[in-house]
Amino acid sequence: MRVLVAGAAGFLGSHLTDALLEQGHDVLGVDNLSTGSLENLKHLRTERRFGFCEQDICDPFDPKGVDYVFNFASPASPGDYMRLGIETLMAGSAGTRNLLEIAKKCDAKFLHASTSECYGDPEEHPQTEEYWGHVNPIGPRSVYDESKRFSEALVMAYHRYEKLDTRLVRIFNTYGPRLQMNDGRVISNLLTQALRSDDLTIYGDGSQTRSFCYVSDEIDGILRLARSDEHTPVNIGNPVEWTILECANAVLRVTGSTSKIVFLPLPQDDPSQRQPNIGKARRLLNWEPKIDLETGLKLSLEYFRGCIEAAG
Ligand code: NAD
Ligand code: UDP
Repeated sequence: MRVLVAGAAGFLGSHLTDALLEQGHDVLGVDNLSTGSLENLKHLRTERRFGFCEQDICDPFDPKGVDYVFNFASPASPGDYMRLGIETLMAGSAGTRNLLEIAKKCDAKFLHASTSECYGDPEEHPQTEEYWGHVNPIGPRSVYDESKRFSEALVMAYHRYEKLDTRLVRIFNTYGPRLQMNDGRVISNLLTQALRSDDLTIYGDGSQTRSFCYVSDEIDGILRLARSDEHTPVNIGNPVEWTILECANAVLRVTGSTSKIVFLPLPQDDPSQRQPNIGKARRLLNWEPKIDLETGLKLSLEYFRGCIEAAG
């Protein structure tokens, strides 16, 4: 297949690109480099089955015949999407529509990277795909949450009205090499702080929970979904739930760091709990994650050490 990966210079997009190339496909990556980096693709410089185009998905473009479109283009860390609020809303609306039109024109399949943020600050726990969510539509996170919810509605509308062959993955917190060191997400912050012997910053009292999936497990689940015939959303994430304080202690164990933990104010609307029910992925895709948090943190150490060295 010839595959279009939007957001290819990002954390997940670059790992997805690697996996697709490994499976023998040709990949055209597009990215506007707003939160991603060509560093994530530099190992593909001599790969003849890979092409890259600096492109904003909100602007029209013609990839000239593709069989599959993967939409991973959107700011994703809270720091990035709050800094780029309007751009985030546009990526999830005009950008997603542009890519759906390309898929329609090429008669290509389509997979959209959605998010556990569609559930907002969830009142149902763990979250199943049937839960409609609890989202503040005008709060600081709304630029991301509502852009992602609008994208899901748009993708389902193209499936229903235009008969497009679409898929929706709801990704839960994923981490690993190629996360931007300074994008403000919890794993990148805590690992970098521990390796530098800086204080570990915990927002609030650290009792809020997240469920962390290592990147190779996440990509495996996404590719299984891409090959399936499931059109409604599927949660792909690791169901083991951690408080943020437990996560900080895991980082201290894995790095052997003697950093102190400090507590800072909790940002507005920060979800208090998040844990995927992955029954649907288990049943339909025969998928479940294999890598636990401490193993995944160890697998990420070398990359973060390299980032710290490069930053000087
Ligand atoms: P990332 O910031 O590393 O990657 C996003 C990429 O999209 C970047 O390379 C960025 O430059 C590019 N981009 C942003 N706006 C664009 C635009 N208008 N046109 C073209 N390119 C654009 O983030 P990530 O973690 O790799 O996330 C990738 C996708 O997965 C996003 O859609 C995100 O919402 C989703 N997701 C990620 C997670 C996670 O834990 N990593 C969780 C849920 C959902
Ligand atoms: N967090 C934290 N310290 C940090 C960065 C994040 O305590 O240095 C918390 C944040 O408030 C949230 C959780 O860790 O409760 C996960 O944050 P992240 O930004 O990684 O992603 P989110 O799941 O909120 O989108």
